[in-house]
Amino acid sequence: MSNVFGECSLCHQPLTPYGSLVCAEGTICRNCAALLSPFLTKAEVAEMTLEQLNGHIEYRKANAEVLKDLKISRVIDGRYDLYRDEEGKNILFVKGRDAVKENADIIPLTAIDKMQITKQYNKKDANYVDIFVKVYLHDAPFKCVEFMTNTFPKTDVNVEAYQQAMDLAYDYLNKIKELVSI
Ligand SMILES: [Zn+2]
Repeated sequence: MSNVFGECSLCHQPLTPYGSLVCAEGTICRNCAALLSPFLTKAEVAEMTLEQLNGHIEYRKANAEVLKDLKISRVIDGRYDLYRDEEGKNILFVKGRDAVKENADIIPLTAIDKMQITKQYNKKDANYVDIFVKVYLHDAPFKCVEFMTNTFPKTDVNVEAYQQAMDLAYDYLNKIKELVSI
């Protein structure tokens, strides 16, 4: 099967103009891209071989199986909810309301290297500043969990909304630190 965009290197279905990702050995379609963790960056995918991508997809399937029976509870309510498991060994970042449905990655606390809060101008509107939480990992299926906690007009950096936004970002870091040391 071939079309103007070529075919997916993994499933060999025709590629669509949007949503496909370049990897080290070709291009994968948006359906295959949807099987990857949302925390795997385009840059990471670009360096991965087809074998590594297949391995990652296998990891996601295994994650889904474990997640079905994992007892988790929410620790922080935000753009990404932070969950912990009952035994306090793993954390999960859930974008929607259903961890199982979105197959949220189960992240062992032992995989965490360091954490960071960063601010950068909004890519679409430089009058806005976005606050990000970054959790760097080792021996994990992706290098970093990165998500935006909040965005606000840059003229308002001294107002309460900014402080609240920063407080929320620190909440994530502090909660994770607490869990790591339990
Ligand atoms: Zn595909």
